[in-house]
Amino acid sequence: MPIPTVTFRSGQVVPALGQGTWAMGDDPRTRDRELDALRTGLDAGLTLVDTAEMYGAGRSEELVGEVISGRRDEVFVVSKVLPSNATRQGTIDACHASLRRLGTDRIDLYLLHWRGRAPLAETVDAFSQLMADGAIGAWGVSNLDGADLADLPAGAEPATDQILYNLTRRGPEFDLLPSLRQRRIPVMAYSPVEQGRLLGHPELAAVADRHDASTAQIALAWTMRSGQVVAIPKASSAEHVLENARAVDIELTADDLADLDAAFPPPTRPRPLEMI
Ligand code: NAP
Repeated sequence: MPIPTVTFRSGQVVPALGQGTWAMGDDPRTRDRELDALRTGLDAGLTLVDTAEMYGAGRSEELVGEVISGRRDEVFVVSKVLPSNATRQGTIDACHASLRRLGTDRIDLYLLHWRGRAPLAETVDAFSQLMADGAIGAWGVSNLDGADLADLPAGAEPATDQILYNLTRRGPEFDLLPSLRQRRIPVMAYSPVEQGRLLGHPELAAVADRHDASTAQIALAWTMRSGQVVAIPKASSAEHVLENARAVDIELTADDLADLDAAFPPPTRPRPLEMI
């Protein structure tokens, strides 16, 4: 089955299932395996690749650079500026350093990794400049809750908010996801399998058995179920990547969703946005 898509406000269409790269590129002994995993993912249609200047102090971006070399136009590259660099000039300098490590002249989506001390207006100003220069295609934010989003300069609409969202982290369903949906801002769900901690959960296993699927596949299908969420699991083996790609074939039934609601209850009141 082709990978379903999510459409940003700009009309940009991206796959609803991408690839994370946190902690990839750190260890030379696992580098070839990670390159193979990411390339396998691209071949399977997982062409959105998420990285950040923070990951391995730039080594993840270098790894992604090697993966996209020769096939840049197939890939939607997401990277992030650290809050400590997110002043006006700092953001522009950080972006150019990321571009050098990625070996490309454009980052498709550039995010503020989380809110720090730099005024949001300065970061957004730098993002606008980078867009005007063609260094980035779009900008967005990460780990911003509703109150933070309200502090963005008037009229500044991020393409996305990349947040912690999975079966065990359903807080955003109470207010953040509905308000973003109303603004037509799709979210990116990071740590969609809770860094592996979700995978042994017995109720998840029971749903997986009904579909002859793995728990990772059910967790990913659940995360993407609204059509407004891009899930970005990290998998450093080709086997895991291909397993994850097949999550798009799974259609969760009303009974599955009810069982998952019982095991992982949705929020009944506002909760602070969690971060990993
Ligand atoms: P994750 O994707 O929830 O989990 C990654 C772990 O799950 C890895 O140990 C991986 O193992 C394992 N895994 C993946 N697929 C599997 C499968 N089919 N079967 C068994 N195990 C599987 O956690 P994450 O890396 O924290 O989050 C994903 C991405 O989101 C990151 O890589 C990063 O790009 C982004 N992120 C963003 C933020 C932010 O602040 N914006 C924060 C955290 C993460 P293997 O590696 O051995 O395959």
